[in-house]
Amino acid sequence: MTTAPQPTGEPAAATLTNWAGNLAFGAARLHRPRTLDELRRLVADAPGRVRALGCGHSFSTVADTDGDLVRLDALGADPDAITVDEDARTATVPAGMRYAEAAAALDARGWALHNLASLTHITVAGAVATGTHGSGSGVPSLAAAVVGLELLTADGALRTLTREADPEVFPGAVVSLGALGIATRITLRIEPAYRVAQWVYTDVALDAVAADFAAAFELADSVSVFTRWDDGRAKLWLKQRLGAGASGPASSLLGGSLATENVHPIPGTPAERIADTTPQCGVPGPWHRRLPHFLPEGTPSVGAEIQSEWLLPREEAVRGMAALRALGDRIAAVAQVSEIRTVAADDLWLSGAYGRDTVAFHFTWVRDEAAILPVVGAIDEALAPLGARPHWGKVSTLAGRQVREAYPRFADFAALREELDPSGTFRNAYLDALLG
Ligand SMILES: Cc1cc2nc3c(=O)[nH]c(=O)nc-3n(C[C@H](O)[C@H](O)[C@H](O)COP(=O)(O)OP(=O)(O)OC[C@H]3O[C@@H](n4cnc5c(N)ncnc54)[C@H](O)[C@@H]3O)c2cc1C
Repeated sequence: MTTAPQPTGEPAAATLTNWAGNLAFGAARLHRPRTLDELRRLVADAPGRVRALGCGHSFSTVADTDGDLVRLDALGADPDAITVDEDARTATVPAGMRYAEAAAALDARGWALHNLASLTHITVAGAVATGTHGSGSGVPSLAAAVVGLELLTADGALRTLTREADPEVFPGAVVSLGALGIATRITLRIEPAYRVAQWVYTDVALDAVAADFAAAFELADSVSVFTRWDDGRAKLWLKQRLGAGASGPASSLLGGSLATENVHPIPGTPAERIADTTPQCGVPGPWHRRLPHFLPEGTPSVGAEIQSEWLLPREEAVRGMAALRALGDRIAAVAQVSEIRTVAADDLWLSGAYGRDTVAFHFTWVRDEAAILPVVGAIDEALAPLGARPHWGKVSTLAGRQVREAYPRFADFAALREELDPSGTFRNAYLDALLG
């Protein structure tokens, strides 16, 4: 497995890659400031463009730059740096902290977040900036928990934006694609810690999922359906908060049977890698060790992979499924697995779930760009008419205009970007193409 880039503070080697190794960053230098002043100086003195890097888990070029990359894992990275406001029910975390550390520290203090992605290896700032989400028909994206942001802008000013004080622009500043500045601290809504158990059903019928999509995705607080689209079969993942009213699992659901051993979501993964997954079979555990599919101490997913994901209005779920089944043989030839999830609507301008309850179709491909791109293009073409928004951190062939048009507040975002970063310090080739 390729590991995430190791910051050196030295000129970046040509081999600096993202986590999956599917792209080499074009950055001239990589920095790892230890203080806010150091970060300020870096931004002010940078000879060209600057880009914040989370931990490089995006598959698209969203984090790339030909200038200076700045990683914040050394800036207030101690979990003790998290401050909790119990009355307001918020926690302020260093932006470059990974969810793994932030969640464990919050849990130890009796607090929790509303949801997590399939992995907690990613940084809070990086995940929020790309609209990262988990699953749950009533559960919005991770970014929806953000109620405050501390942002270092190109002029060296540290701005604080909050949902309460800046209602006009705040929804535009959270899913930012890193284009507005460098987030240094992020304030998240929290709730009392809770426990979760998860169950898996194998050999579920995709037809049964499509027959009553809403009901299938309301079987638990968080539901995922894993399939390869070519044989009509799927695995069903149910994650349920424990508490009053939580009932035991049915022995069969949607034509599938309850698994009695832990299962890896990706078919063909060696048996020893099942230890990388969060425990199943109803074994209860803390929220942050059940909501993700993968444990922070293990390898998430496969490693040698590329990912794509499209987010559609939920009412298009069944039509989206039919379109993907029609491409089933082509998909299965290059996909390791695909996952269907749901996300509740939010008001964040560039969130994939902006303004609409959402269904998300995710793909874990083989790591062979030439082989997957024609299939990614075919899916782009099939799902775009259904209102698809490609995940910012994953691979799509949709061009700038098509993507812009999928976001009703895109022009407002472009204006906010212009206001906060008139010099274009935080732009990169990805944003140039997107902004047009
Ligand atoms: C195995 C795997 C599983 C995944 N599962 C999910 C999933 O379940 N759901 C989902 O939605 N996505 C998923 N993703 C995608 C992933 O969540 C996103 O790509 C996320 O952005 C990665 O976070 P990162 O910390 O690595 O950020 P990076 O990829 O390093 O950066 C992403 C963006 O954030 C910006 N950024 C980073 N730090 C800052 C900062 N301090 N200030 C301003 N901008 C900043 C960067 O400039 C860039 O634009 C998965 C990815 C992998 C590899």
